[in-house]
Amino acid sequence: AKDAGGNQTAVYDVSYSTELEKRYEIERELRLALNDSGLELYLQPQVRENGELVGAEVLLRWNHPSRGMVSPADFIAVAEQTDLIVDLGKWIVRAALAELKRLPAPLTLAINISPRQFRKYDFVYFIEHELQQSGADPSRLILEVTENLFVEDLGDIISKMEALQQSGVQFSIDDFGTGYSSLSYLQRLPLQELKIDKSFVQAVGNQEQQAIVDSIVAIASNLRLRIVAEGVETQEQVDYLARHDADMVLQGYLFDKPLPIEDFHRNYFTS
Ligand code: C2E
Ligand code: CA
Ligand code: CA
Ligand code: CA
Repeated sequence: AKDAGGNQTAVYDVSYSTELEKRYEIERELRLALNDSGLELYLQPQVRENGELVGAEVLLRWNHPSRGMVSPADFIAVAEQTDLIVDLGKWIVRAALAELKRLPAPLTLAINISPRQFRKYDFVYFIEHELQQSGADPSRLILEVTENLFVEDLGDIISKMEALQQSGVQFSIDDFGTGYSSLSYLQRLPLQELKIDKSFVQAVGNQEQQAIVDSIVAIASNLRLRIVAEGVETQEQVDYLARHDADMVLQGYLFDKPLPIEDFHRNYFTS
């Protein structure tokens, strides 16, 4: 493409074409990883204020042949630009449900769902089908979606959520407060949980910033939703969060980082 010639090439600068090539390369390698067991699920524990384990969030890792374990922060955005995210998402759901089946009750498992995957016409059918195939308990499955899912086709999104909720599946809004937020749609959604983004949790100690935490907790409590605080790294943050009278769950490096599945089981279920 860079030899396309004439004046046309002038509109593309070098960094753009490099960026584009980098994207194609990531996409190609990700497809290989998907077909060749190069992807792995990690689990990050979610606990109560007293340390009691209540569940885990599933976080994807890419075991890259030369770059080692790669965080989705470095590749999910690329995958989201095409239906690659849908194929990845299907793999993640299947692997996570097999894991949920193994996990002792009443522990829950939370999975991140990309808007593009959720918007597929057969998403509800897919989840219900996989739940049935796996034999996992739907009420212990939490689907984390972000606010940008709600910018378009709200009616359609809500009916899909309601259909899944009928099957018992729970919904959580991830990174709450960082995206497009409207309190008017919030009460229309069939939700069980809000996740406070780690940027707000980590601002505890800063007077103005921690007012955001207070507001999110107040909204969640009014709507009778559970709150999960992500990115908890210090006891000061725990103490501040625990001061609120709310249904509060904590997740962060203070308790544990995301763990390979076998480490998660070894650390939490063997004595
Ligand atoms: P997220 O859903 O907001 O996940 C939380 C991120 O914070 C994770 O990064 C987690 O490892 C990290 N984290 C957890 N505790 C702490 C802490 O105490 N301090 C700090 N600084 N970070 C903490 P990770 O695993 O790199 O994932 C990044 C993002 O990639 C996720 O953000 C999520 O948006 C996306 N992602 C991860 N796994 C999946 C997946 O299976 N599917 C989809 N669609 N997206 C995923
Ligand atoms: Ca998440
Ligand atoms: Ca987040
Ligand atoms: Ca409390």
